[in-house]
Amino acid sequence: MTASAAEAIAIAGNPNSGKTTAFNRYTGARQHVGNYPGITVEKKDGTAHLDGKSVTLIDLPGTYSITAYSLEEVVARRVLAEDRPGAVIDVVNAGVLDRNLYLTVQMLELGSPLVLLLNMMDEVEKSGTKINVGRLEELTGIKCFSAVARKGNGLDDALRAAVALAAEKKGRDKPLEISYGTDLDLALQKMTPVAEEAKLLTEHYPARWVALKFLEGDKEIVAKAKAAGPEASRKLQEITDEVTKHLRVTLNTYPEAVIADYRYGWISSIMRNGVLEQAEDVYERTAASDKVDSVLTHRFVGPLILLAVLYLMYYITIEVGNYPLGWTETFFEWLSGAAGSLISSEGLRSLVTDGAIAGVGGVLGFVPLIMIMFFLISILEDSGYMARVAYMMDRVFRIFGLHGASIMPFIIGGGIAGGCAVPGVMAARTLRSPRERLATILTVPFMVCGAKIPVFLLFVNIFFEKNQALYMFMFTLLGWVAALLIARLLRSTLVRGPATPFVMELPPYRFPIMTGVLLHTWERTWQYIKKAGTVILGISILLWAAMTYPGLPEDQHEALHAEREAIEANSAGLPQEQVDGKINAVDNHEAELALNNSYAGRMGRLVEPITRGAGFNWQTNIALIGGVAAKEVVISTLGTAYALGSVDPDDAEKSSLADRIRGDPTWTEANAMALLFFTLLYSPCFVTLLIIKQETGKWRWLAFSLFFDLALALAVATAVNQTLIRVL
Ligand code: GDP
Ligand code: MG
Repeated sequence: MTASAAEAIAIAGNPNSGKTTAFNRYTGARQHVGNYPGITVEKKDGTAHLDGKSVTLIDLPGTYSITAYSLEEVVARRVLAEDRPGAVIDVVNAGVLDRNLYLTVQMLELGSPLVLLLNMMDEVEKSGTKINVGRLEELTGIKCFSAVARKGNGLDDALRAAVALAAEKKGRDKPLEISYGTDLDLALQKMTPVAEEAKLLTEHYPARWVALKFLEGDKEIVAKAKAAGPEASRKLQEITDEVTKHLRVTLNTYPEAVIADYRYGWISSIMRNGVLEQAEDVYERTAASDKVDSVLTHRFVGPLILLAVLYLMYYITIEVGNYPLGWTETFFEWLSGAAGSLISSEGLRSLVTDGAIAGVGGVLGFVPLIMIMFFLISILEDSGYMARVAYMMDRVFRIFGLHGASIMPFIIGGGIAGGCAVPGVMAARTLRSPRERLATILTVPFMVCGAKIPVFLLFVNIFFEKNQALYMFMFTLLGWVAALLIARLLRSTLVRGPATPFVMELPPYRFPIMTGVLLHTWERTWQYIKKAGTVILGISILLWAAMTYPGLPEDQHEALHAEREAIEANSAGLPQEQVDGKINAVDNHEAELALNNSYAGRMGRLVEPITRGAGFNWQTNIALIGGVAAKEVVISTLGTAYALGSVDPDDAEKSSLADRIRGDPTWTEANAMALLFFTLLYSPCFVTLLIIKQETGKWRWLAFSLFFDLALALAVATAVNQTLIRVL
C-alpha cells in the first residue's frame, strides 16, 4: 500500500459523521474490506472514478481524536503519518461543527493536507443555523465544501479538490502551530529544536508535534521516541516533567488539559469569528466563560475595561510600591557606607561602592515594585484574561498589517509591561506568514520590557511625581503605538505582502490559585534579581573601569594636589568647616575631571554633538551606550557615573541616585522625558539582537534593529526635548 499511498485519498472523521455514506457514494460500494495488518480494526479500500481517472480511497476508522487512546486512533494516526495519503477528506457533521473540528485541528497539527466536507447540511439548514463556509475557509486555510452525503451533493467537488491538493502537497502540508499559552509555548520552544536536531521520529512526524506528544504524555510516541533517540528523549522528558510540575503547582492542571483547552479555544474562536452566523447568541449561552466574554471582549466596552485594568495595575504598583522603595534605598545607602568604611584600599573601595553597589543597587532597588507588578500580571495571566486581550486586539492589529497571533509575542515582550523581548521574539514562531512574523519580530522590542521598567520608574519618580501611574501607563501604550506604526511602515515598504487570517485560542476562565500566582511572581522576580547579580554586575564593573581609567594625567593631578596644599597652608585662623569645604570642592573637581578624562567619558563626549538636541549630557550618553548591553544598565551606569563624579563623603553615603539626579541642575523635565522616549525606542539589547539574527536568519535584520531603532529614538527624543523646552 505504501507505494500507492501518496496518490490515495483518505476519508477521516468522527464516528457517525457520514464517512461510510460518502465512501459508498464515491466507490459505488465496491470496496475491499479487511483488517489493518496485525490489527483487528476494519480496513476499507476502494476505487472512485472522477473526471475519467481512478482514485484510490481509504476509509479510516472513525475517531474523535488521534491521541492514541484506542486502537482506532492508533490506526488512523499511523495511516495519516506513516502512509501519508496524498490528501485527506475530513468528513464533519456540520450540525456539531465545533466538536467535530477537534479532530480537524489535530490533523492540521500533524500536517495532513485536508479538505473539509461539511456533511449533513440538510439538517443544518432545517435547524435555522447558517454556516459561513467562506469565512471558515479563510480562518482555517483549508478548502471547505457543503455536502449532503446521503444525496451525493458536494462530494465530487471535495474529491476534485483533494486530488488537486494531493498533486500539490504530496501528503505533507505545513503543520498548524497554535499557541498553548505561555508556559507550554516556552517549553515547546525549547523542545522542538531538540527533536529537530536529533531527527527524533521526524521522518514521519513534525518536530513540534513530537514535542507536543511528550507534553500530552502519548505513550505510543514517547516509547517510539525513546527507542529511536534515548538521549534526546531524556531531554524532552526532563522539560516535560518540569513544566508538568509547574502547571500542577501554579494552575492545578496538567499539560494535556491545557492543550485540549487551547485546541477548543482555537475552535471556539473560529466559530465566533463569523462562521456561525445566526446561532451566535445560541452559542454564547453555552458556557459561563462565554457570558463573561460577551462583556470583557465586547467591541466597545472590552477595550475600555482593558485600559482601566492596565492603568489600575500601575496605580496599585506605584501606590503600594512606594513604601518598600524607600527601604531598599536606605538599605543600599547603608551598605555602601558600611562597605566604604571596611575597605581601606581606595581603588577597591571605589570598585565595590561606586561600581558594584551603586550600579547593581540601583537596579535591585526596584525589586519590591517589580514584585508587586509581576504579582498583578500573574493574576491577569492565570485567570485567562490575557488571552482575551489578545483576542480583542486582533481587530486593531489587522489595520497595521500584523496578525492577531502577533499579540502573544507583544505581550510576552512586555505589552502589559514587564516582559522580555527575547522570548517575545521567539514566540513569533507561531505566526505562519513569514512577512507578518518578520514585522512582529522587528517591532516586539518597542514594548516596555522588564529591563526598561526601572528606568521609567526612576525618572517618572523624580520628574513626574504627581502622576506616576499615569506616566507608566502612557509609556506602555506608547510602546504599542510605536510597534504598530513601525509595523505598518514595514508592511508597506520592506515587508509588503497579503494578510493571513487569524484564529485566536480562548481558554476558559479560571480562578487563579494564590500559590500559583505567588510562584509565578517569585519566578519572574528571581529572574530579575539573578540578572542584576550576574550580567548587570559584570557590566557595571566593566563600565566602572571604563569610567575610572586611565585617571588624570600626572600634571593635572599634581596641580590639584598643589591646590589642596595651598588651602591647607593658608588655613591658619579659618574655621575647620570652611577649610573642609574648600578641600571638598577641589576633590569634587578632581573626580569630575577624572571621569571626564576616562575612556567612557571620552566616548560620552564624542557623541555629545549627536545627542545634544535631545538634551543628554555625556553621563547619560555613557549610560545609554551601556544600555545596549542590557537596558537596566542605563540605571546602573548612571548610578556609577554619579557616584564617581562626587566624592563628598557625606554626600556619597546619604544620597541615592534619584537624589543625585534631583540635585543636578542640568536635568530638566524636558530632557528626562526625551530620555524616556529614547529608552522606549532605541536599539534592542544585545541578546535580543542576537535572537533577531537567529530567528530571521539574516544579519540584515539585526543591523536594521540596531540602526533604524537608534535613529528613530534619536529623532523622537530630539523632537520631544526641543518641543518641551519651548512649551515648559
Ligand atoms: P460513519 O460512522 O462516519 O461511517 O457514518 P455513516 O456513513 O454510517 O452515517 C451515519 C448516519 O448519518 C447514517 O444514518 C447516515 O444515513 C446518516 N447520514 C450520512 N450523511 C448524511 C447527510 O448528509 N444528511 C443526513 N441527514 N444524514 C446523513
Ligand atoms: Mg462508518
